[in-house]
Amino acid sequence: MPELPEVETVRRVLETELTGRTITEIVVRTPTFYRPPPRAALTGLIGKTVTGFSRRGKFLSLLAGERSLVLHLGMSGRLTLTDRPAGNRSVKHCRFEIGFGGKTLRFVDPRRFGRVGGPLPKFGPEPLDPAFTPDFLKAAFQGRKAAIKALLMDQGVLAGLGNIYATEALFRAGIRPSRPAGRLRRAELESLHEAIRFVIREGIRLRGSTLDDEAFLDPYGKPGGFQNRVCIYGRREGACGHSLAKTKRPIASRSAVYCPVCQK
Ligand SMILES: [Zn+2]
Repeated sequence: MPELPEVETVRRVLETELTGRTITEIVVRTPTFYRPPPRAALTGLIGKTVTGFSRRGKFLSLLAGERSLVLHLGMSGRLTLTDRPAGNRSVKHCRFEIGFGGKTLRFVDPRRFGRVGGPLPKFGPEPLDPAFTPDFLKAAFQGRKAAIKALLMDQGVLAGLGNIYATEALFRAGIRPSRPAGRLRRAELESLHEAIRFVIREGIRLRGSTLDDEAFLDPYGKPGGFQNRVCIYGRREGACGHSLAKTKRPIASRSAVYCPVCQK
């Protein structure tokens, strides 16, 4: 599932390729979105010029003057740029296309967990914002008994982290994913803060992670590179050389991988 670095990679490509272009047509391809497609929100964009793309957490917004369109890639959604005109019916799982007179942006979403339109939910700070500090983590975790990994993936606490980057940050900080968040010591909060910023920055620098069968690709169809830097996610042996373990109890509905030697 695309997380902050993958969505930021998409945002940068779209901002470069589409800013200043005028939306010439919208083709909504299926009437069966996971949530119904806001046709008015889409068709109202025709004739408008793109002023940029913004990102908050894992949400992307196409900006066109005072209008905007919120997009969420869900589990396996992909935004693809093509030079072919909109309306090619042979593209599978295509939910909508936005034509820019010569360029087309396609939203392909096989599992239909993607989201189009609607307001943005409430988010915690962005990991690379100055508002995100060890003190912020201390306050956010105060008295919380929930597993640290669950809170890191809670978008209302901190924006943008999912399974991959939370798993990697906890490994780098030497903290087990099942630890009650409120019990972390000051030094651990500082390590965790640094580790989160490191993995997010690396993820963006390497243009995201391409793992799993629903592998992420950027709008040009190119894979990311962070998968070559993961220390434990999707591995049996950690980069530390130890055999990895999984939590018996699920955290955020799945068992969490960790190194029983390096993570306390
Ligand atoms: Zn280890």
